[in-house]
Amino acid sequence: MNRFTNHYLELPSHFYRPIDPEPLIDARLVHYNQTLAEQLGIRLENSQVLQLTAGQAMAPGLEPLAQKYTGHQFGYYNPDLGDGRGLLLGQAIDSENRSWDLHLKGAGITPYSRRGDGRAVLRSAVREYLIGEALHHLNIPTTRCLSLCHSPEPVRREKIEDRASYIRVAKTHVRFGHFEWLAQRGDRSDFEQMANYVVEVVYPELIDEPPAKRYAELFRTICIRTAQLIAKWQAAGFCHGVMNSDNMSVAGETFDFGPYAFLDDFKIHHICNHSDTEGRYAYSQQPNIGLWNCQVLGQAFSMLLSSEQIEQGLDAYVIHYNQAYLHAMGSKFGLPNLAEGDKYFIADSLILMDQSDIDFHHFFHHLGKLESEQEHQWLDFVGDSKAWREWRQTYLSRTDQIDREQRRQKIAEQTASFVLRNHIAQEIIESCEKGDYDLLSSAMAWLQTPFAPPADLLENYAHFLQAPRKEQKGIALSCSS
Ligand code: AMP
Ligand code: MG
Ligand code: MG
Repeated sequence: MNRFTNHYLELPSHFYRPIDPEPLIDARLVHYNQTLAEQLGIRLENSQVLQLTAGQAMAPGLEPLAQKYTGHQFGYYNPDLGDGRGLLLGQAIDSENRSWDLHLKGAGITPYSRRGDGRAVLRSAVREYLIGEALHHLNIPTTRCLSLCHSPEPVRREKIEDRASYIRVAKTHVRFGHFEWLAQRGDRSDFEQMANYVVEVVYPELIDEPPAKRYAELFRTICIRTAQLIAKWQAAGFCHGVMNSDNMSVAGETFDFGPYAFLDDFKIHHICNHSDTEGRYAYSQQPNIGLWNCQVLGQAFSMLLSSEQIEQGLDAYVIHYNQAYLHAMGSKFGLPNLAEGDKYFIADSLILMDQSDIDFHHFFHHLGKLESEQEHQWLDFVGDSKAWREWRQTYLSRTDQIDREQRRQKIAEQTASFVLRNHIAQEIIESCEKGDYDLLSSAMAWLQTPFAPPADLLENYAHFLQAPRKEQKGIALSCSS
């Protein structure tokens, strides 16, 4: 138990800077994710977790460092990036010898902080803490969090807020931006060392390939994982909000959360990031931006690959995105075996939803009951219109060969009851800001069974399952964190 190391230190020393965290003052432990700790083979007492999360003491084997990377932010290359307020502490090695990065976010100033203060605020820490758990239990690859602490130290953002720090767990913290940085430096051997590191840590099935094939497969695999990930976001109605290439993980995990949101009403062009004035990262744009980021990564990989090999990776993105999207959306609509024309049916359905101000998640709850209910019950929900009446007929004839119970189950399996909508996250943040962490603990448990809400959620927080009130809908948050 407790096997810690930091294998990033085996890479060339200019890839990072060793640095100690700045300890948080008067920190209190908000939460320790015991379930995750067990999976990682970590056994720590609460007092040890607090010390680690507050940056007050390291566990043997952990050696904190700040990673250098660059990246494209809102379409423009920024050479000055790197871990500006987070440190890679090292890795936990689980019982199957897999390693898991432990990254302390809010750890203080590093050589890459630029004008930032190196700190994280409780508000954004709670948001990242919750969403990792939410996505994981929706079967969407993501980083998660191990522990969170809260300090009364003031941090200046748009207003004064409390300070926090938390340990993030990921397969790796290598971002697309790491490769962009190495390509900019132009040292082929450095680039190969990073590629081999990612293969060893994330894609060990490629280790035995000869180098030329290994690098091409690595790029292609990253493209495919990214495509499959974004297809899952689309089907879940999840908006990331800041898909800069330094926020894209080479492991295809959802990574680096800012003003993310689950859709409330289905709006194809919903923008969850208040700072994203042009809608670059709108819900509808995520698949294209995923490809754009893979193109940027491909340009970096031209250090090692031919233009044909890069094209193959990008083609794979498109093919796998379309497959994964249709599969996920088809399941949501209760269409187990996709038929010719289903993709148009799905697209048309989404357009109609967009025009009708319909809650994306509740739509599928109602869809599960469509056959057993009268037409007027369906129309009560979607709104009575010729378009929805016709839609209902089309759907019934499309699904009349499918066993009703099988279809209902298929939809239920894909339709979460407890969705971490922004206004719910906000209610949890406000209780944490008052020093009451019970609601966050409860929410962490509820998020583990999003498809079947437990009794205490149903009894005490039933409003978390209902559609948001008008003023709670579609909140856009700023990048400030
Ligand atoms: P983000 O917008 O969180 O993806 O961060 C973009 C870059 O800004 C990264 O290099 C971060 O490390 C850095 N950064 C963000 N916030 C801070 C902060 N408060 N202090 C120092 N660096 C920061
Ligand atoms: Mg980032
Ligand atoms: Mg961030």
